[in-house]
Amino acid sequence: MLEFERVFLKRLQKLRVPMFTHCFWRGQADQTARFVDGKSKAKWGQNPHNFGCAIDVIHARKAWALTREQWALLGHIGKEVSVQISVPVVWGGDWSFYDPAHWELKNWRELNWTRAETLEETFN
Ligand SMILES: [Zn+2]
Repeated sequence: MLEFERVFLKRLQKLRVPMFTHCFWRGQADQTARFVDGKSKAKWGQNPHNFGCAIDVIHARKAWALTREQWALLGHIGKEVSVQISVPVVWGGDWSFYDPAHWELKNWRELNWTRAETLEETFN
C-alpha cells in the first residue's frame, strides 16, 4: 500500500495537484469510536485501515471538497499507477457508498487478525 501511495502522490505532485494521505492506519480505539458514532459501518478488524491496507488521499487546501470530475480524474490516475506498479487496488469512488479519497488493497481480506494485532502493538 505504501508503494502505491508513494508513486501515486509523486505522480500527482508532478501534475501540481497537492494531495496528501490523511489516514493510513486506524487503530482499535479509533475504529470503535467511529463505528459507535456511525461514521463507519465497520467494527474493529472489518476495515482495511485496521490492517494498514488502505489510504485516504485528500487535497492539501480543499481536503474532501473536490468536484465529482476532479475526483474522477484522481481515480483515473490512481488506477493507472496501480497497473503500472502491479499493486492491485480498489478505489472508493467506484462504490455506491461514494468514498473517493479512499484506496485499498484489493486482497486485504486475505490478511488475518494476527497482522492487525501486530500493527496495533507496533504503533502504540
Ligand atoms: Zn479510507
